[in-house]
Amino acid sequence: MLCKIIPEKCIACGLCQVYAPEIFDYNDDGIVIFKNDREALQEFVSRNEQDNALIAYRKCPVRAIEIIEK
Ligand code: SF4
Repeated sequence: MLCKIIPEKCIACGLCQVYAPEIFDYNDDGIVIFKNDREALQEFVSRNEQDNALIAYRKCPVRAIEIIEK
């Protein structure tokens, strides 16, 4: 599963980090970044984190997270 983030859409609500704290984090402005690579805009999600990634994707109010099934 490939996960993409679109920081320009993010409204810094914090939900994705609540539901998938092993995947998402925030920069100093509260905008979404990947926890393991702060510069990346896409990342492959490990199998054991896929459910959390999907929940975060569904909860994001502005669709700043995209999931591409692989
Ligand atoms: S859930 Fe969406 S809007 Fe909220 S912090 Fe995460 S990416 Fe940004």
